Amino acid sequence: MTPENRQAYTIEPLLSQKAIAARVESLAREIEAHFADTERLIVAGLLRGSFIFMADLVRELTLPVEVDFLEVSSYGNAMTSSRNVRILKDLRCDIAGCDVLLVEDIIDTGHTLTHVREMLRSRRPRRMEICTLLDKPSRREVEITAAFTGFTIPDAFVVGYGIDYAQRNRNLPYVGTVRLPNVDD
Ligand code: 5GP
Ligand code: MG
Ligand code: MG
Repeated sequence: MTPENRQAYTIEPLLSQKAIAARVESLAREIEAHFADTERLIVAGLLRGSFIFMADLVRELTLPVEVDFLEVSSYGNAMTSSRNVRILKDLRCDIAGCDVLLVEDIIDTGHTLTHVREMLRSRRPRRMEICTLLDKPSRREVEITAAFTGFTIPDAFVVGYGIDYAQRNRNLPYVGTVRLPNVDD
């Protein structure tokens, strides 16, 4: 599926802008309660899918926070179902002794966050929690659960609110499901 070979596809709304905003606000309250005693909280976003969610989330947080980003690329191993993760852009700050909120767009198979979490854990943060906008638990291959989940969704390919289809549609203000044209159409 790339824009080059695409026929017209449609996007069916799944989560409205209003529903997302309300959930981001309540997530912020949960996060504030959890990290109420923090001395230094670093909100670390996984680029690029989390950028809009993270921007909205940090503006709802009344705790003092620092913002940082990392980018990883996942690649599959054809022989096994396990995947590896390569760091394309690392965090700028040293998280040792700090509280970390790792912000992700979607947990799908769980491989990406499992690797990222282990890698960041080796740097000895004081506490680290995961916050994901979306969770597709039916697709999980490795067990991982976020402390904070915006929405649990069914197994469908989604876009919008930071999440792309071949780099497009990140700027949609809502989350929708991609519907490909039927080959018979
Ligand atoms: P996993 O949990 O399988 O390691 O990887 C999760 C990543 O796969 C997400 O962060 C996201 O980048 C990508 N992903 C999973 N499901 C979807 C989806 O429905 N739409 C898009 N655009 N990306 C997805
Ligand atoms: Mg992602
Ligand atoms: Mg992507």
